Amino acid sequence: MAFSTETAGEEAEEEALPGPAGAGGGGEVSSEEWQRWGTSSPLPTVVASVVRQLLEMESSAGEKMRFGGVGSKLKGDFKDVEDRKHRAVYQTLADSDQKLQYYSARQIGCRLLGSRGYLCQKCWLPMEDCMCSKLAPCNLWRGIRFWLYMHPKDFLRQNNTGKLLWQVFGIQAASLCLFGIQEHEDIMWDAFQRSGNLKPTLDKQTCGFLLGMRACRP
Ligand SMILES: [Zn+2]
Repeated sequence: MAFSTETAGEEAEEEALPGPAGAGGGGEVSSEEWQRWGTSSPLPTVVASVVRQLLEMESSAGEKMRFGGVGSKLKGDFKDVEDRKHRAVYQTLADSDQKLQYYSARQIGCRLLGSRGYLCQKCWLPMEDCMCSKLAPCNLWRGIRFWLYMHPKDFLRQNNTGKLLWQVFGIQAASLCLFGIQEHEDIMWDAFQRSGNLKPTLDKQTCGFLLGMRACRP
């Protein structure tokens, strides 16, 4: 899987938000706010760092961040300032792992700020289209647990269907792992290793496939 910094005009296939999305107002993202989006993990340090950088840039630019269009992208003059800055940071990163983590964190940080006050934190749909009241919670069969390995571009994406897993079964039964976010990756792969040790009947083919995905990381 190849990763690059994102440029305007990419991802034309993604859904477009109907009109301006939420603004970045409200300061830094707290752990509680982060977890309300569907994860039990602490706020990843690299995401917190990117959000802080965006807010600092906003403060020094004296211009309010605006998000909108495809994938909660930055809009206006601020977008160009931020784009130059993030490309400069990207160039200083030594290896592909660091570049991947920064890439993922930037995607997620923009989505977090751009979705504030616009998307429902449970169903990831615009608040006027919220479907939470239509979802019936359900228990998974005892001993079954899902992991959802999600690309950062799919985080807070309205047409993401994987989110239904934890919305229906709960975040302890269906856990979110965001690709490229080290804390999430560590939690998921550690859980797989523990499961492998404790449950020798674990489907080795599935495990091998997942481990293969990891080996294919850029
Ligand atoms: Zn909702």
